[in-house]
Amino acid sequence: MNANVSKIKQAGLKVTPQRLAIYDYLVNTDCHPSADTIYKNLEETTPGMSLATVYKTLEAFKKNNLVIELNAGDGFARYDAITENHSHIVCTNCGRVYDLFLPETMNIREQISNLTNFKLNDERLIFYGVCPSCQADEE
Ligand SMILES: [Zn+2]
Ligand SMILES: [Zn+2]
Repeated sequence: MNANVSKIKQAGLKVTPQRLAIYDYLVNTDCHPSADTIYKNLEETTPGMSLATVYKTLEAFKKNNLVIELNAGDGFARYDAITENHSHIVCTNCGRVYDLFLPETMNIREQISNLTNFKLNDERLIFYGVCPSCQADEE
């Protein structure tokens, strides 16, 4: 069986062609797309795909920990199929969002928990700057 089909099933969701298309798309991209972007990329190739389906599917995925929702400060939610603890770095010039796997930031939850006595479940750590390719354009 297709690995993404099993993952959707393991999350307790029924597999539909639309759900599978959205999950496949998210697993194969690292651009942290919005619901709109997902819809535009899939509407022609996936029969029965509507923007409402995309929103409903993302909501169900989020509830069942198949995706995380991320707000990079550009006014819309973005989605990421990487649900492990990781941070993000955003280019304020081109708007690209990159994954950042840095041990120091991955352990920050424990440190903050010790400091505040909070029982932490989640965090969103986002860094902002200008990416190397935009820096090259400026020169
Ligand atoms: Zn950039
Ligand atoms: Zn990410």
